[in-house]
Amino acid sequence: MSGALIPVHSIEPLADAVPVGPAPTWEARLVDTLNRPLHDLRLSVTDRCNFRCVYCMPKEVFGKDFAFMPRDEMLSFEEMTRLARISVAHGVEKIRLTGGEPLLRKGLEELIAMLAELRTPAGRPVDIALTTNGSALAMKAQALKDAGLKRVTVSLDSLDDTTFRAMNDVNFPVARILAGLDAAHAVGLGPIKINMVVKRGQNDHDIVNMARHFKGTPYILRFIEFMDVGTSNGWNMNAVLPSSEVLGRIHAELPLEEVAPNYTGETSRRWRYVDGEGEIGLISSVTQSFCHTCSRARVSTDGKLFTCLFASEGHDLRALLRDGSTDEQLSDAMASIWRRRTDQASALRSAQTGAVRSSGAKKIEMSYIGG
Ligand code: SAM
Ligand code: SF4
Ligand code: SF4
Repeated sequence: MSGALIPVHSIEPLADAVPVGPAPTWEARLVDTLNRPLHDLRLSVTDRCNFRCVYCMPKEVFGKDFAFMPRDEMLSFEEMTRLARISVAHGVEKIRLTGGEPLLRKGLEELIAMLAELRTPAGRPVDIALTTNGSALAMKAQALKDAGLKRVTVSLDSLDDTTFRAMNDVNFPVARILAGLDAAHAVGLGPIKINMVVKRGQNDHDIVNMARHFKGTPYILRFIEFMDVGTSNGWNMNAVLPSSEVLGRIHAELPLEEVAPNYTGETSRRWRYVDGEGEIGLISSVTQSFCHTCSRARVSTDGKLFTCLFASEGHDLRALLRDGSTDEQLSDAMASIWRRRTDQASALRSAQTGAVRSSGAKKIEMSYIGG
């Protein structure tokens, strides 16, 4: 995972780069070549995970001998916070901590507390969220809340214990994830979202059961199409169950109606139960691209900035963090990268066949870049 697409030292600081500090005016707002603002930052805090989900870190690839990132290559919490602070000055209002499994990163609460201090140019706190497999949530929910975390998204692919154990591939039981959800709810980490990656033939039999179980609860269940991220998960189009089919199956038993998005750029299409008992989300990453509103930047654990989930290389910000560059230089580098951004991988490939989608250049693994 080394090497930057553009060597950061060769990036010319732009004269009109947004400065760190005062609120940027609307005219100075940082946008890419497709006029998409930088709004969300996903920080991957570790490339390690205690699960081996078949669609993300299959055991055959991420086995005992897999070389995870050495400690000194990982950004420190101070380095992450510095990047976050500069991103916030450029317009980021949401920061999501991810991984790997973020709760495996020791002392994560300290990072959350540092990020909770950040303020947008308008003086608002930043929305800090966490995506987790939930395995350690029962134990850590209170500490996360106390540190300033606002909300969590918990991945849960089935309520059927046998199916769930097979999908996480480490024999982890559903009951412990449900206990984590209860703990998160009890301490007020909400709204809590639940991500279910749907793989045809593996857990699709549990779609309606999941919907029924979480209907009328405080949890918002979201169904994610199995994506062709990385090169190790054996993706093929036959294993993708389109969101339209997920919707059809649920609607046939539990009638739904569409709801307007909460904000422009929301990845999930919202549907609510007509009887008023809550809503679900559909994330159609494969069958319906949302590139035209994609405002997310991702920073890997070793400090590479990725402007797309399907990028093959990132931009090395760690070099700048560690070579004495000033905040202004870092800020200019980030602005320059974002201004040149042209990514719309999903949109460009949506018309292609499964065979073409799954072939081609080296791609970054989900566990490295974060979901
Ligand atoms: N370990 C945490 C977790 O599982 O929630 C955070 C990292 S995980 C990479 C983030 C999200 O990406 C999870 O909701 C996971 O289900 C999703 N994900 C991983 N691989 C995927 C794939 N191939 N297609 C769709 N979603 C995927
Ligand atoms: Fe780990 Fe999350 Fe990937 Fe599953 S989806 S292997 S829990 S990083
Ligand atoms: Fe954003 Fe890239 Fe996904 Fe399109 S393919 S929505 S640009 S991350």
